[in-house]
Amino acid sequence: MVPFKSGGTTLVVLSGTNEVIPQDIDILLSVKQQKALDFLKQYKVSLLFGDTGSGKTEIYMKYFQHILDIKKRAIFLMPEISLTPQMEKRLEEHFGKSIVMWHSKLTPKQKKENLKSIYSGEAKIIAGPRSALFLPIKDLGLIVVDEEHDDSYKSSSRPRYNARDIAIYMGKIYNIPVVLGSATPSLNSFVKFPYFRLKGGYFKADKTFVYERSVEKLSPMIFNALGDVLEAKEQAIVFLPTRANFKYLICKDCGHTYECVFCSIGMSIHQKIHALKCHYCNFTQAIPQVCSECGGANLTSSRVGTAEALQEIQSEFSKARVEQFDRDTITTQAKLKKALKRFNNKETDILVGTQMLSKGHDYHDVTLAVVLGMDNMLGMSDYRAREKALSSLIQIAGRSGRKRDAKVIVQTFNEEFFATHIDDFEAFLEDEKFYREELYPPYKKLCRILFAHKNGVKARDEMQMMYDSIKNEPNVEVVGYGKCAIERVANKYRFEILLRSDKSTDIIKAVMRSKMPLAEVDMDPVEFG
Ligand SMILES: [Zn+2]
Ligand SMILES: [Zn+2]
Repeated sequence: MVPFKSGGTTLVVLSGTNEVIPQDIDILLSVKQQKALDFLKQYKVSLLFGDTGSGKTEIYMKYFQHILDIKKRAIFLMPEISLTPQMEKRLEEHFGKSIVMWHSKLTPKQKKENLKSIYSGEAKIIAGPRSALFLPIKDLGLIVVDEEHDDSYKSSSRPRYNARDIAIYMGKIYNIPVVLGSATPSLNSFVKFPYFRLKGGYFKADKTFVYERSVEKLSPMIFNALGDVLEAKEQAIVFLPTRANFKYLICKDCGHTYECVFCSIGMSIHQKIHALKCHYCNFTQAIPQVCSECGGANLTSSRVGTAEALQEIQSEFSKARVEQFDRDTITTQAKLKKALKRFNNKETDILVGTQMLSKGHDYHDVTLAVVLGMDNMLGMSDYRAREKALSSLIQIAGRSGRKRDAKVIVQTFNEEFFATHIDDFEAFLEDEKFYREELYPPYKKLCRILFAHKNGVKARDEMQMMYDSIKNEPNVEVVGYGKCAIERVANKYRFEILLRSDKSTDIIKAVMRSKMPLAEVDMDPVEFG
């Protein structure tokens, strides 16, 4: 291959074809980025722990270029939500036809073309969400799993695999390197794999964090801040977590939430039985009348939704151009591109959205980020509640202040937790190790067994039978069993058993011995609803 220099781009003539494609082959890495790449190349599985804006993508690209140079191919895995128009453009500009995208929003025609290119070998890098792993790719030389902490890698239907873990397994089978990347890695990967810490961002603008102790949906302080932004003709994003599915009890005066005494997991409200319930062990307690922390009587269970928040903002600022940005409204790639274009062209003033808002998009001029519902996230009945809440906040804060100074308003009673860790996720992970040690992954294996059926009695009976059999298994502990937090989905009644063990093999053996026909086994579960 002979590169010809012409202006800023280099033209490369691919051997065997007459095709000339423009390639900007100079991916310039900083000294730090080069160090990171050298580090990653040393290991079979490694973690690139790099802050937002620290230039992880360039490092991946340089690694892909290397793989192409040695005539191999690569998979670039990312959560669907992160395969942004900007990312796509950037990759295509550099790799031309050597890269193809693979995701659910492709048209049948595009899919056919991309498959053809993969079969013929023209496609050398396949970028996409978890399904990209299963394409027939010859001479695989590298798998990169970006945003490795993201739960969307885990399939929520059978087979309940985690694409990140499959990638690591494939790396082992094919004897090729696997790179995991994230600004907020999972404790799991942080503990298991060698990592390179890439600090600092290109976005030098200053960020001010303001913590507001309130459980009001949109407080006067937030309205004031939004008003200032609108007046200055700047832009804002308003973030709400989607995961606040359940109702949690929270004290309006001190922000206290209720945790199970056995599991240290947030308990959710069950109106029917007027009780708080832990969905790990089923421990139940009466809904308290006064706060056990401060004695106040203002216990509330409010939660926030995107549509409601948008409506409130719109009615306060009738002239503001406010847009909803979540899975309900952004259903296609075209809609995503259009919404982002409108926002970056300043045809929209405020975006109100969920996790989709926090992923990979490059908003040029956001000077205010409002983050709601953080305490709901912290109070979730999920052993990773802290990890997820902090990670969300870091990701969303990373979307603002890319060009100029920005303010981030965080609605929470847990200022100490967020303020302590917001600038140092690494220190947080070190702390989190102690909390997880005796109880949760990566130190223990969890397995959730689901029973769902239109006939609730049938589902419950099978759960009971399996429980009776599995409770006597050695080396496996039944953490809890009973009704699921979401008791009915799609007209099916749901029951569950949660198992814990030191080794997955012990769980697998026990499950195989006592498995019932309805039992749906979810190893390393990420959902507890
Ligand atoms: Zn209180
Ligand atoms: Zn419990």
